[in-house]
Amino acid sequence: MARYSGSVCRLCRRENLKLFLKGERCYTDKCAIERRNYPPGQHGQARPKFSAYSIQLREKQKVKRMYGLLENQFRRTFDLAARVKGITGEALLVLLERRLDNVTYRLGFACSRADARMLVRHGHILVNGKRVTIPSYFIRAGEVVSVKEQSRQIGRVVSALEAAQRRGVPEWAEVDREGFSGRMKLLPTRSDITAPINEKLIVELYSK
Ligand code: SF4
Repeated sequence: MARYSGSVCRLCRRENLKLFLKGERCYTDKCAIERRNYPPGQHGQARPKFSAYSIQLREKQKVKRMYGLLENQFRRTFDLAARVKGITGEALLVLLERRLDNVTYRLGFACSRADARMLVRHGHILVNGKRVTIPSYFIRAGEVVSVKEQSRQIGRVVSALEAAQRRGVPEWAEVDREGFSGRMKLLPTRSDITAPINEKLIVELYSK
């Protein structure tokens, strides 16, 4: 599967926002945004020129990178959202939030979404007691996500759970840290997503 293999901190610097792609490092003063808060590259410190298109593009890139998707995967999720009744931009964010890799991260079993995706792909994560290895699987309200019993000793899972206490758990979830499991109580809503996102710009971009 294609994946981005460059420096993830460059992505944050490009979007001028902490996207929290590197786990614990993102909370320390080693964070590249703290040290060099300007876009990467030769012209990074030049005065940027903004057009309506570039603003829409940056918003889409920001959300795509935040959730760790490539263009095709993101576009497919957008197309799915467009078929959902209601506001497309909000449906897009809710679908992204319901992805198994995101839920694994939100419940605290991984220190980043990339790490969560690796856990899912390698079969460490169960949904309602059954192994699911598809990071894009959409969790439904009431479903239980847990770490496989034999995988509960993995150092990065244990340290992620400890570190996750600082992030807290979203309203739509409940976590049993001792049992390495968590449940989606309700479907996430737009108000549960606190990152600074203007999803209308993404809809405008894709509607051209
Ligand atoms: Fe982004 Fe984390 Fe790197 Fe900071 S440390 S620039 S938040 S990925």
